[in-house]
Amino acid sequence: MPDGVVQLLPTGFDPERFTPRPGDLAVMQSGDLLLRAGAGFDDWATLLARRVQRADLATASVDLSRGIALLEVKGRAVEASDGHAHGSANPHWWLDPVNAKTAVASIAAALLAADPAREAVLSARLDAFNASLNAGLARWSAALAPYANQPVLAYHNSFPYLARRFRLDIAATVELREGVSPGPARLAEIADIARSKHVRLLLVEQADPGQLTPALTRAAALTPVALPSNGEAPGETYVAMMDALVARLADAFAKVGA
Ligand SMILES: [Zn+2]
Repeated sequence: MPDGVVQLLPTGFDPERFTPRPGDLAVMQSGDLLLRAGAGFDDWATLLARRVQRADLATASVDLSRGIALLEVKGRAVEASDGHAHGSANPHWWLDPVNAKTAVASIAAALLAADPAREAVLSARLDAFNASLNAGLARWSAALAPYANQPVLAYHNSFPYLARRFRLDIAATVELREGVSPGPARLAEIADIARSKHVRLLLVEQADPGQLTPALTRAAALTPVALPSNGEAPGETYVAMMDALVARLADAFAKVGA
């Protein structure tokens, strides 16, 4: 097994449709630390740790959603029926870059606890990440400022954290339940909302654009914008992902004349 970080979720794959592969068992056997998004997004990781009888790994697992003010908190644990439903809260927290800072601080704390001798290097890298993220935040805020309060639609409920940080107005979410395609009645409702609120853009996840987007976009004259919300390029950094996402969104707003 290689040193360093082994990524369990394949790049470009819809994380909410992921089920572990046989090779992932070997990874779980040999890993020292398990980093997860939490909030019901990757409950499969708990099952996998249990399957390889790694109680120690469950203990050494860092739920990166801890310490983040989650949205749409349900106040109880929710079992994902098909691996897609949102769990105890909306799990797409990393689309607010300020939350990413909290998560990276949690990673640094876990690495430091595992290897205190590396404190100087960890602290230098954390500072470098935060500096790069702060510069990014200024850049992304400036790029999206002209489109504050512009109404948009979202296919999946992936963007409430992004919307809150950059003041986007999500007029409605097409999916009423995560992973369940909208029926004709919902499509008609969405077309009505799009017309009455003058919505031009439909935000979709690049990894999972939804099944009825063409019908929807025809009915409501919407332009779909595929956002790389989970990182779509191997080895891509978080800041590069956000740069790509914000550039695509700002470009789409500009093209529809928002
Ligand atoms: Zn989701």
